[in-house]
Amino acid sequence: MFTARAFRAPKLPTMPHVRAAATQAVDAPAKTAQQELEGGVTVVTGSSRGIGRAIALRLGAAGGRVVVNYAASSAAAEDVAHQIEGLGGSAIVVKGDLAKALIQAAVSEWGTIDALVNNAGITRDTLMLRMKPEQWQAVIDVNLSGVFYATQAATKVMAKKRKGRIVNISSVVGLTGNAGQVNYAAAKAGLIGMTRSVAREFAGRGLLVNAIAPGFIESEMTGVLSSEVEAAILAKIPLGTYGKPEEVAGLVKFLLTDPAAGYITGQVISIDGGMSMQ
Ligand code: NAP
Repeated sequence: MFTARAFRAPKLPTMPHVRAAATQAVDAPAKTAQQELEGGVTVVTGSSRGIGRAIALRLGAAGGRVVVNYAASSAAAEDVAHQIEGLGGSAIVVKGDLAKALIQAAVSEWGTIDALVNNAGITRDTLMLRMKPEQWQAVIDVNLSGVFYATQAATKVMAKKRKGRIVNISSVVGLTGNAGQVNYAAAKAGLIGMTRSVAREFAGRGLLVNAIAPGFIESEMTGVLSSEVEAAILAKIPLGTYGKPEEVAGLVKFLLTDPAAGYITGQVISIDGGMSMQ
Protein backbone atom coordinates (compact mmCIF):
# COMPACT_ATOMS: atom_id res chain seq x y z
CA MET A 1 0.00 0.00 0.00
CA PHE A 2 1.20 3.49 -0.74
CA THR A 3 1.21 6.26 1.79
CA ALA A 4 -1.02 9.12 0.75
CA ARG A 5 0.66 12.49 0.87
CA ALA A 6 -1.16 15.69 0.22
CA PHE A 7 0.82 18.38 -1.59
CA ARG A 8 -0.70 21.82 -1.89
CA ALA A 9 0.37 23.62 -5.05
CA PRO A 10 1.53 27.10 -3.99
CA LYS A 11 -0.74 29.88 -5.22
CA LEU A 12 0.69 31.96 -8.03
CA PRO A 13 1.31 35.59 -7.08
CA THR A 14 -1.96 37.50 -7.23
CA MET A 15 -1.94 40.16 -9.96
CA PRO A 16 -3.54 43.54 -9.15
CA HIS A 17 -6.18 43.12 -11.88
CA VAL A 18 -7.11 39.69 -10.47
CA ARG A 19 -7.64 41.25 -7.02
CA ALA A 20 -9.83 43.94 -8.57
CA ALA A 21 -11.92 41.28 -10.29
CA ALA A 22 -12.33 39.42 -6.99
CA THR A 23 -13.65 42.59 -5.32
CA GLN A 24 -16.16 43.13 -8.10
CA ALA A 25 -17.37 39.55 -7.69
CA VAL A 26 -19.48 40.68 -4.70
CA ASP A 27 -21.97 42.18 -7.18
CA ALA A 28 -21.51 39.43 -9.78
CA PRO A 29 -24.62 37.58 -10.99
CA ALA A 30 -25.34 34.15 -9.50
CA LYS A 31 -23.41 31.30 -11.08
CA THR A 32 -25.08 29.25 -13.81
CA ALA A 33 -25.64 25.53 -13.25
CA GLN A 34 -22.70 24.83 -15.56
CA GLN A 35 -20.38 27.18 -13.64
CA GLU A 36 -21.43 25.49 -10.37
CA LEU A 37 -20.53 22.09 -11.83
CA GLU A 38 -17.27 23.37 -13.36
CA GLY A 39 -16.11 24.72 -9.99
CA GLY A 40 -16.66 21.34 -8.34
CA VAL A 41 -14.18 19.09 -6.55
CA THR A 42 -12.95 16.19 -8.69
CA VAL A 43 -10.57 13.35 -7.89
CA VAL A 44 -8.80 12.17 -11.06
CA THR A 45 -6.86 8.97 -10.39
CA GLY A 46 -3.64 8.57 -12.38
CA SER A 47 -3.47 12.19 -13.51
CA SER A 48 0.29 12.76 -13.62
CA ARG A 49 0.52 11.64 -17.25
CA GLY A 50 -1.44 10.80 -20.40
CA ILE A 51 -5.22 10.87 -20.48
CA GLY A 52 -5.60 11.58 -16.75
CA ARG A 53 -3.31 14.60 -17.02
CA ALA A 54 -5.38 15.98 -19.92
CA ILE A 55 -8.59 15.46 -17.90
CA ALA A 56 -7.14 17.19 -14.82
CA LEU A 57 -5.93 20.17 -16.89
CA ARG A 58 -9.26 20.48 -18.71
CA LEU A 59 -11.21 20.51 -15.44
CA GLY A 60 -8.70 22.92 -13.89
CA ALA A 61 -8.94 25.30 -16.86
CA ALA A 62 -12.71 25.46 -16.28
CA GLY A 63 -12.10 26.58 -12.68
CA GLY A 64 -12.33 23.14 -11.09
CA ARG A 65 -10.72 21.98 -7.86
CA VAL A 66 -8.76 18.84 -8.67
CA VAL A 67 -7.03 16.10 -6.69
CA VAL A 68 -4.09 15.10 -8.91
CA ASN A 69 -3.02 11.52 -8.20
CA TYR A 70 -0.02 9.42 -9.21
CA ALA A 71 1.90 6.24 -8.37
CA ALA A 72 5.56 7.13 -8.99
CA SER A 73 6.02 10.32 -11.02
CA SER A 74 5.73 12.97 -8.32
CA ALA A 75 7.43 15.76 -10.34
CA ALA A 76 4.99 15.26 -13.22
CA ALA A 77 2.03 15.31 -10.82
CA GLU A 78 3.25 18.49 -9.14
CA ASP A 79 3.72 20.07 -12.58
CA VAL A 80 0.07 19.26 -13.43
CA ALA A 81 -1.02 20.90 -10.17
CA HIS A 82 1.02 24.04 -10.91
CA GLN A 83 -0.44 24.22 -14.40
CA ILE A 84 -3.97 23.93 -12.99
CA GLU A 85 -3.29 26.82 -10.61
CA GLY A 86 -1.95 28.84 -13.56
CA LEU A 87 -5.12 28.11 -15.56
CA GLY A 88 -7.35 29.45 -12.78
CA GLY A 89 -8.25 26.19 -11.02
CA SER A 90 -7.04 24.73 -7.72
CA ALA A 91 -5.16 21.49 -7.12
CA ILE A 92 -3.65 19.25 -4.51
CA VAL A 93 -1.47 16.21 -5.22
CA VAL A 94 -1.94 12.85 -3.51
CA LYS A 95 0.29 9.84 -4.05
CA GLY A 96 -0.83 6.25 -4.42
CA ASP A 97 -3.86 4.03 -4.70
CA LEU A 98 -5.12 4.23 -1.13
CA ALA A 99 -8.60 4.98 -2.41
CA LYS A 100 -10.16 6.03 0.84
CA ALA A 101 -7.31 8.44 1.58
CA LEU A 102 -7.72 9.98 -1.87
CA ILE A 103 -11.35 10.84 -1.23
CA GLN A 104 -10.52 12.00 2.33
CA ALA A 105 -7.87 14.35 0.89
CA ALA A 106 -10.53 16.06 -1.25
CA VAL A 107 -12.92 16.31 1.69
CA SER A 108 -10.33 17.67 4.09
CA GLU A 109 -9.09 20.26 1.55
CA TRP A 110 -12.42 21.43 0.14
CA GLY A 111 -15.11 19.90 2.37
CA THR A 112 -16.63 17.61 -0.26
CA ILE A 113 -16.22 15.63 -3.47
CA ASP A 114 -18.44 16.31 -6.48
CA ALA A 115 -16.92 14.03 -9.11
CA LEU A 116 -14.59 11.07 -9.49
CA VAL A 117 -12.70 9.97 -12.59
CA ASN A 118 -11.36 6.43 -12.26
CA ASN A 119 -8.59 6.74 -14.82
CA ALA A 120 -5.47 5.10 -13.31
CA GLY A 121 -4.61 1.98 -15.25
CA ILE A 122 -1.70 -0.33 -15.96
CA THR A 123 -0.96 -3.12 -18.44
CA ARG A 124 1.00 -6.36 -17.96
CA ASP A 125 0.53 -7.85 -21.43
CA THR A 126 1.32 -11.41 -22.42
CA LEU A 127 -0.53 -14.37 -23.92
CA MET A 128 -2.77 -16.11 -21.40
CA LEU A 129 -0.81 -19.37 -21.26
CA ARG A 130 2.30 -17.41 -20.23
CA MET A 131 0.56 -15.07 -17.81
CA LYS A 132 1.90 -15.27 -14.27
CA PRO A 133 -0.41 -14.86 -11.26
CA GLU A 134 1.30 -11.57 -10.37
CA GLN A 135 0.66 -10.17 -13.87
CA TRP A 136 -3.02 -11.09 -13.57
CA GLN A 137 -3.30 -9.76 -10.01
CA ALA A 138 -1.49 -6.45 -10.55
CA VAL A 139 -3.85 -5.44 -13.34
CA ILE A 140 -6.98 -6.55 -11.46
CA ASP A 141 -5.80 -4.72 -8.31
CA VAL A 142 -5.25 -1.34 -9.98
CA ASN A 143 -7.74 -1.39 -12.89
CA LEU A 144 -10.69 -3.05 -11.15
CA SER A 145 -10.33 -3.27 -7.35
CA GLY A 146 -8.87 0.26 -7.17
CA VAL A 147 -11.96 1.58 -8.95
CA PHE A 148 -14.26 -0.31 -6.58
CA TYR A 149 -12.64 1.13 -3.44
CA ALA A 150 -12.45 4.69 -4.78
CA THR A 151 -16.09 4.50 -5.89
CA GLN A 152 -17.22 3.06 -2.56
CA ALA A 153 -15.52 5.90 -0.65
CA ALA A 154 -16.76 8.63 -3.04
CA THR A 155 -20.37 7.48 -3.18
CA LYS A 156 -20.60 7.57 0.63
CA VAL A 157 -20.08 11.35 0.42
CA MET A 158 -22.05 11.91 -2.80
CA ALA A 159 -25.09 9.88 -1.75
CA LYS A 160 -25.54 11.99 1.40
CA LYS A 161 -25.78 15.20 -0.61
CA ARG A 162 -27.71 13.48 -3.45
CA LYS A 163 -25.30 14.86 -6.04
CA GLY A 164 -22.24 13.52 -7.80
CA ARG A 165 -20.88 12.27 -11.08
CA ILE A 166 -18.48 9.41 -11.77
CA VAL A 167 -16.70 8.48 -15.00
CA ASN A 168 -14.82 5.19 -15.29
CA ILE A 169 -12.19 4.91 -18.02
CA SER A 170 -12.72 1.50 -19.59
CA SER A 171 -11.33 0.58 -23.03
CA VAL A 172 -12.36 -0.66 -26.45
CA VAL A 173 -10.72 -3.98 -25.49
CA GLY A 174 -13.23 -4.30 -22.63
CA LEU A 175 -15.87 -4.52 -25.37
CA THR A 176 -14.00 -6.56 -27.99
CA GLY A 177 -11.32 -8.53 -26.05
CA ASN A 178 -7.70 -8.58 -27.18
CA ALA A 179 -5.14 -11.35 -27.57
CA GLY A 180 -2.30 -10.79 -25.09
CA GLN A 181 -4.48 -8.71 -22.74
CA VAL A 182 -6.68 -11.22 -20.91
CA ASN A 183 -6.04 -9.47 -17.57
CA TYR A 184 -6.55 -5.95 -18.93
CA ALA A 185 -9.63 -6.82 -21.03
CA ALA A 186 -11.21 -8.68 -18.07
CA ALA A 187 -10.65 -5.66 -15.80
CA LYS A 188 -11.97 -3.20 -18.38
CA ALA A 189 -15.04 -5.37 -19.11
CA GLY A 190 -15.53 -5.71 -15.35
CA LEU A 191 -15.57 -1.92 -15.10
CA ILE A 192 -18.53 -1.83 -17.46
CA GLY A 193 -20.55 -4.18 -15.22
CA MET A 194 -19.45 -2.15 -12.19
CA THR A 195 -20.50 1.11 -13.87
CA ARG A 196 -23.99 -0.15 -14.68
CA SER A 197 -24.46 -1.69 -11.20
CA VAL A 198 -23.33 1.45 -9.36
CA ALA A 199 -25.48 3.59 -11.68
CA ARG A 200 -28.52 1.47 -10.75
CA GLU A 201 -27.73 1.50 -7.01
CA PHE A 202 -27.42 5.30 -6.88
CA ALA A 203 -29.85 6.55 -9.56
CA GLY A 204 -32.42 7.14 -6.82
CA ARG A 205 -29.91 9.42 -5.09
CA GLY A 206 -29.31 11.45 -8.24
CA LEU A 207 -25.77 10.22 -8.92
CA LEU A 208 -24.64 9.81 -12.53
CA VAL A 209 -22.22 6.97 -13.24
CA ASN A 210 -20.88 6.34 -16.73
CA ALA A 211 -17.96 4.65 -18.47
CA ILE A 212 -16.07 5.67 -21.55
CA ALA A 213 -14.25 3.25 -23.81
CA PRO A 214 -11.30 4.86 -25.60
CA GLY A 215 -9.65 3.17 -28.57
CA PHE A 216 -6.04 4.00 -29.46
CA ILE A 217 -5.15 7.32 -27.92
CA GLU A 218 -1.83 9.09 -28.58
CA SER A 219 0.51 8.32 -25.71
CA GLU A 220 4.16 7.69 -24.83
CA MET A 221 3.49 4.10 -25.96
CA THR A 222 2.12 4.98 -29.41
CA GLY A 223 5.05 7.38 -29.93
CA VAL A 224 7.60 4.53 -29.99
CA LEU A 225 5.79 2.01 -32.24
CA SER A 226 7.51 0.88 -35.44
CA SER A 227 5.95 2.15 -38.69
CA GLU A 228 4.73 -1.40 -39.56
CA VAL A 229 2.99 -1.90 -36.22
CA GLU A 230 1.54 1.59 -36.47
CA ALA A 231 0.19 0.96 -39.98
CA ALA A 232 -1.47 -2.26 -38.79
CA ILE A 233 -3.13 -0.41 -35.90
CA LEU A 234 -4.30 2.52 -38.01
CA ALA A 235 -5.80 0.13 -40.58
CA LYS A 236 -8.24 -1.04 -37.87
CA ILE A 237 -9.44 2.48 -37.14
CA PRO A 238 -12.13 3.76 -39.55
CA LEU A 239 -11.09 7.40 -38.95
CA GLY A 240 -7.47 6.35 -39.67
CA THR A 241 -5.80 8.28 -36.83
CA TYR A 242 -5.16 7.95 -33.10
CA GLY A 243 -7.38 9.89 -30.74
CA LYS A 244 -5.92 12.67 -28.62
CA PRO A 245 -5.93 12.78 -24.80
CA GLU A 246 -7.58 16.22 -25.09
CA GLU A 247 -10.51 14.66 -27.01
CA VAL A 248 -11.05 12.12 -24.23
CA ALA A 249 -10.76 14.95 -21.70
CA GLY A 250 -13.45 16.91 -23.53
CA LEU A 251 -15.86 13.99 -23.32
CA VAL A 252 -15.13 13.48 -19.62
CA LYS A 253 -15.61 17.19 -18.93
CA PHE A 254 -18.98 17.08 -20.72
CA LEU A 255 -20.15 14.11 -18.64
CA LEU A 256 -18.96 15.71 -15.38
CA THR A 257 -19.82 19.37 -15.79
CA ASP A 258 -22.44 19.91 -18.46
CA PRO A 259 -26.06 20.24 -17.31
CA ALA A 260 -27.00 18.60 -20.65
CA ALA A 261 -25.32 15.38 -19.41
CA GLY A 262 -27.69 15.31 -16.44
CA TYR A 263 -29.92 12.64 -18.00
CA ILE A 264 -27.07 10.23 -18.90
CA THR A 265 -26.28 7.39 -16.53
CA GLY A 266 -25.20 3.74 -16.76
CA GLN A 267 -23.84 4.25 -20.28
CA VAL A 268 -20.63 3.19 -22.00
CA ILE A 269 -19.56 5.82 -24.52
CA SER A 270 -16.98 4.80 -27.10
CA ILE A 271 -14.36 7.30 -28.27
CA ASP A 272 -12.36 5.18 -30.69
CA GLY A 273 -12.46 6.58 -34.23
CA GLY A 274 -15.16 4.03 -35.08
CA MET A 275 -13.16 0.92 -34.09
CA SER A 276 -16.00 -0.74 -32.19
CA MET A 277 -18.66 -0.06 -34.84
CA GLN A 278 -20.56 -3.18 -35.73
P1 NAP B 1 -0.46 6.26 -18.80
O1 NAP B 1 0.03 7.32 -19.73
O2 NAP B 1 0.33 5.03 -18.60
O3 NAP B 1 -0.73 6.95 -17.37
C1 NAP B 1 -1.22 6.17 -16.32
C2 NAP B 1 -1.45 7.04 -15.13
O4 NAP B 1 -1.95 6.22 -14.07
C3 NAP B 1 -0.18 7.71 -14.63
O5 NAP B 1 -0.51 8.97 -14.11
C4 NAP B 1 0.24 6.76 -13.50
O6 NAP B 1 1.02 7.39 -12.49
C5 NAP B 1 -1.10 6.39 -12.94
N1 NAP B 1 -1.11 5.17 -12.13
C6 NAP B 1 -0.75 3.92 -12.49
N2 NAP B 1 -0.90 3.08 -11.46
C7 NAP B 1 -1.37 3.82 -10.42
C8 NAP B 1 -1.71 3.54 -9.07
N3 NAP B 1 -1.60 2.31 -8.57
N4 NAP B 1 -2.16 4.54 -8.28
C9 NAP B 1 -2.25 5.78 -8.77
N5 NAP B 1 -1.94 6.13 -10.03
C10 NAP B 1 -1.50 5.15 -10.84
O7 NAP B 1 -1.94 5.76 -19.21
P2 NAP B 1 -2.94 6.35 -20.32
O8 NAP B 1 -2.57 5.78 -21.62
O9 NAP B 1 -3.10 7.80 -20.16
O10 NAP B 1 -4.30 5.60 -19.85
C11 NAP B 1 -5.17 6.16 -18.89
C12 NAP B 1 -6.39 5.26 -18.75
O11 NAP B 1 -7.03 5.14 -20.02
C13 NAP B 1 -6.05 3.85 -18.30
O12 NAP B 1 -7.07 3.36 -17.45
C14 NAP B 1 -6.03 3.06 -19.59
O13 NAP B 1 -6.31 1.71 -19.37
C15 NAP B 1 -7.13 3.76 -20.35
N6 NAP B 1 -7.04 3.62 -21.79
C16 NAP B 1 -5.94 4.12 -22.47
C17 NAP B 1 -5.89 3.99 -23.86
C18 NAP B 1 -4.73 4.54 -24.65
O14 NAP B 1 -4.69 4.31 -25.88
N7 NAP B 1 -3.82 5.27 -24.07
C19 NAP B 1 -6.92 3.34 -24.52
C20 NAP B 1 -7.99 2.84 -23.81
C21 NAP B 1 -8.05 3.00 -22.43
P3 NAP B 1 2.65 7.45 -12.61
O15 NAP B 1 2.93 8.55 -13.60
O16 NAP B 1 3.10 7.81 -11.25
O17 NAP B 1 3.08 6.11 -13.08
